[in-house]
Amino acid sequence: MIVAMRQDATPEQIQRVMDRICEAGLRPERMPGGERTAVGIVSAIPAPLRASLTSQLESLPGVDHVTQVSRAYKLASREFHPADTVVQVGEVAIAGPAVVLMAGPCAVESWEQMREAAQAVRAAGGRVLRGGAYKPRTSPYAFQGLEEEGLRILQAVGREVGLATVTEVVDPHEVELVARYADILQLGARNMQNYPLLVAAGKSGRPVLLKRGMSASIDEWLLAAEYVMSAGESRVLLCERGVHPLDRTYTRNTLDLSCLPVLKEITHLPVIVDPSHATGNARLVPAMCRAAVAAGADGLLVEVHPRPHQALCDGQQSLPTESLAGLVAELRRVAEAVGRSL
Ligand code: PEP
Ligand code: MN
Repeated sequence: MIVAMRQDATPEQIQRVMDRICEAGLRPERMPGGERTAVGIVSAIPAPLRASLTSQLESLPGVDHVTQVSRAYKLASREFHPADTVVQVGEVAIAGPAVVLMAGPCAVESWEQMREAAQAVRAAGGRVLRGGAYKPRTSPYAFQGLEEEGLRILQAVGREVGLATVTEVVDPHEVELVARYADILQLGARNMQNYPLLVAAGKSGRPVLLKRGMSASIDEWLLAAEYVMSAGESRVLLCERGVHPLDRTYTRNTLDLSCLPVLKEITHLPVIVDPSHATGNARLVPAMCRAAVAAGADGLLVEVHPRPHQALCDGQQSLPTESLAGLVAELRRVAEAVGRSL
């Protein structure tokens, strides 16, 4: 439910609306932007209360009208927040005019590997360095990440080279630790519905890159974003990384690019596309990068490695670092064609 105030509503009248909502046991939220103030109710409103609360609020002084929000997610919805959210990470604006390139290896492996990758990312025009220190691997015998040492390397190399950093956190108890080192917390596809993790990340004070679960609907994904937002963090980046495929012969997952125009309609949050996990094949990554930019992605999350054949994780889908500059040159042309830059 959204309570739109009159343009001349006084602060006292707005407060009275907020108080009335609290008295009903619900959570009011001042909505940003717009010429007039509006107050949204973010909690679920019990059905018997809806009609009476609507008429009570409508009759309060300063209230213009009350509208019902059709969607289960509130803070993540365009209805609540009509303007696009631009997430500022240091000097990087995500969902501003420029498409933001985030790139780096799947996993942090060594100082040398991260330095080589970061320099190539920076030289190509990338703004954010990725690298996993905690790897959620399908097999317990696969490389699990360097953990805190990986975080140290990522942070130091990011600072050295001048890139913001993003890295995955897999355990709610490690959120604080990871947030001390990284600029953006990544929540992985396997953890999209790990609610304690979503809440902990939402309280971390860091922006959150929320990957879509491999079988998650768009509404489930936005409800996961709502968990992060209702815990306190409004800077959520949605990341499409491919959904469960019909056929794994040629691609690891199926990149759902149609989610881009859908999301632009129903949410104000930035959308990032990860073509590396979506395809699982480095040869397919450039075409999917071009398509993502053309379809309106605000950023790309791409795996690159100085020596993909030696990578401890996801080498088959990692672009060699030396190919990044050429790819960016192509992407700039696509970005310009759709009114963006890169
Ligand atoms: C990753 O980014 O390295 C990763 C594990 O991604 P996802 O959660 O999309 O599989
Ligand atoms: Mn990976």
